[in-house]
Parts: sequence; structure tokens; C-alpha cells
Amino acid sequence: MMSFISKMFNETDGENTNSNISNPSPVDETERHTHTAPQHLEDVATSIEDKDIAQVKAEKKQTEKSEKLKFAFMLAGGCAGCEMALIDISEKLVDTLDHLEIVFWAPTAADVKYKDLEAYPDNFIDLAFVDGMVRNTENEHMVTVLRQKSKVLVAFGACATVGGVAAMGDLHTKDELFDYAYKQSWSTDNPDGVLPTSEYILDGKYNLTIPAFTDRCMTIAELVDVDFFIGGCPPHHDFIAATVNLVLSGEMPAKGTWLTSGKAVCDVCTRNPAITGEMRRPVGQVFRTVEGQPDPVKCLLQQGYICFGPMTQGDCGAACLKANMPCRGCGGPIPGIKDFGARCLTTIGSTLKDERTCDQLMEKYPQLAKFVYRYSYTSGMIDKRKSAESVPSRRNLP
Ligand code: SF4
Ligand code: SF4
Ligand code: SF4
Repeated sequence: MMSFISKMFNETDGENTNSNISNPSPVDETERHTHTAPQHLEDVATSIEDKDIAQVKAEKKQTEKSEKLKFAFMLAGGCAGCEMALIDISEKLVDTLDHLEIVFWAPTAADVKYKDLEAYPDNFIDLAFVDGMVRNTENEHMVTVLRQKSKVLVAFGACATVGGVAAMGDLHTKDELFDYAYKQSWSTDNPDGVLPTSEYILDGKYNLTIPAFTDRCMTIAELVDVDFFIGGCPPHHDFIAATVNLVLSGEMPAKGTWLTSGKAVCDVCTRNPAITGEMRRPVGQVFRTVEGQPDPVKCLLQQGYICFGPMTQGDCGAACLKANMPCRGCGGPIPGIKDFGARCLTTIGSTLKDERTCDQLMEKYPQLAKFVYRYSYTSGMIDKRKSAESVPSRRNLP
């Protein structure tokens, strides 16, 4: 399993291509519950005959320990749902612990401090996952540190890869967000209108600090170099398990790869007119999901329910469609799409019958930008001009 680390360093010195090209097969049920032991451990097992068994056990244990991948997981600006999704890989998670030594998992799972991570030598960690986007100065610092300490960094989930739900905040100024969150929202009880500040002197002598809110969100790849990307809000357990299998097998794809099936939700949706034989027609009436009762078998987009299945990665197996709900794009863009929201508008627009239907779309979805960029505003191109000066550390995305 260590071979993939050395392979990474031999093959991945170039720029992050973010190529979105890999098609790892989803693990089947058999794979999900088994994995192949690394060859070097087999070698140790066959050499035990002439030795004292206790000594061999000790040696083997030492070998196993030294061969384990040092693994880290860190939550930046997210909800930790991605980490919850890890639990969905069930027994595979337990199997994996035979091969991973968890050296950092904060702030959710392990009793570690940020200073523990800061104290590790550079490249001490073999494999690190980070979920959540960069939203404050603490996120900026810790993601930078994690990158420095890790040989391989995986951006995990919609927030880390394309911005996630909270990135819709970038459609407002910081003042607007604070005003609503701390003064205007119906659950707020703040008669003095106090707003958070990053520094506060308590009792005239204690200087208390909290991380400062940044001007806008960043994906992980905008701040640091990222080796692999896994989409989804949260990622689907099949692709988490597939990633674990790849890591343990030492067969990681090229740097910059999205670890995904590479298929759109439409490709795996049983309502697809290409499968059902339904005739595709221009859509003459737009509905919100709360309106009417959609046919449970036919394509929702053809029925006028706006569905982002054509441009969304279908690693979930079209989960929402099985519940008679349209896809909202949480899987992230399929390969080749650089701006998810723009593609939604052009694709959906081209299915609508006429100008009147387009007007109807805008009436039914007055917050159209938030609708089409629900998970991906940060990675879109629409706000790049305003951000170029305010975020000097941002990296150019391909
Ligand atoms: S991608 Fe979704 S589940 Fe993961 S941290 Fe962001 S909001 Fe939470
Ligand atoms: S548009 Fe939606 S309902 Fe229609 S085939 Fe695609 S995913 Fe299924
Ligand atoms: S159907 Fe779309 S919104 Fe629903 S889980 Fe799949 S990718 Fe996410």
C-alpha cells in the first residue's frame, strides 16, 4: 500500500489538472466486505517456522504498525455530514483500521489538538482527507498546515470540492450575512445588536480571539494543492469504499482525478426517456416540487419539474428520483463542466418550450442563482472577477 505514495510522488509533480476523468467501478457487495492483504505482510507470515512464536508475533506487529498508512481527517468550514457518511461504509471501516494509523481527526472523532498537527514533520501524514470549505482564518491556517504535513490530500465532499451549500453566502456581502444572522433572523434574540468580533478584551486584561470571517468562501483547491476530489453532499458510501480500496491496493489514478463513476444522474435514472421510450418534448409548463403530484415513473424534467440530473454526477444512483424528487445537483458537476450553474441554465433553458416558459421559470424560482448554484457557487466562474483582488491566495482553477 505504501507503493502508491511513492508512485504519487514520482508521477504527480505537475500542476493539478482537476481532470475529472477517472471511472473507478463502484464496489460490489463482495468487495465491500473484503480486501487483499498487502504482499509484504504475507511474506512475514511465511517466515515464522524457525522462530520463537512470541518473537515473530512481535516482529509482525511491528512490521504491520510501520507499514500502516498514517491517515488524517479534518473538517474545515462544513457540517461534518461528510464524516458521518464514512460510517455508511460499515464493516469496511473496521477492516480499514488494520491498514490505517489515524494520527489526526479533528474536531469530530479524535482527542487531538491543532498544535498536534502543527508539530508533525512535513509530509509526516501519508493520506489526508479534508471536508468543508475555507470560510474563516482558522480554516485557512489549518488547511494550509494539513497540506504541508500530508503527502496526499483529498478534497472530500461538495463543500471541499465546489463550495457546498454555505457558499451561497457569497451572493451576499459579509455585512448582509452578519446583519441577518445576528439581528434579523426570527430566532435571534440580540436586543443590543452585538456582532461578533475577532478580538475582545475581557475584564480589561484578557485578550480573547476567535477566527475572523473571510470575505468569501474558497474551495480547498483555491487555497492549496489538492491530489484527488470526491464530490457529493455527502459523498456516497460506495465511492468512499471504492477510494479506500484504491488506497489499499496502491492503484490510485493520476493526480487531479475526481473519484467518481463519471456517469450523470440521468445515466442511472430509470425514468430516462432513453430507457422508457418516452418521447422527449419541449417543456411547456414549469412546476415547483410542492405543486401537483408528479408521475412516479416518467422523467421529472419532461413533466416540468426542474431536475439537474443531466449535469450532475450520479454516484448516488439517482437517489432523489427514487423518492419522486428532482435532482438538485449535490453530486457536483459531471466531467467536462466547469460552471455547474451556467450549465444548468443552458440545459434547462434549452428544454423549455418558449419565452413564456422561461419567464415562468424565473417567477417560480425568484432566487435563480441560489437554485442553480446551490452546491457549487464557489467553483463557478461567475464571481471570479470580484474575488481576484480580495483573495490574493486563491489558486487558478483549470
Ligand atoms: S458537503 Fe454536505 S455533508 Fe459534507 S460538510 Fe458540506 S454540507 Fe456537510
Ligand atoms: S432529468 Fe431527472 S428525471 Fe429525467 S432522466 Fe434525468 S435524472 Fe431522471
Ligand atoms: S439525485 Fe442529485 S441531489 Fe439527489 S442525492 Fe443524487 S446527486 Fe444529490
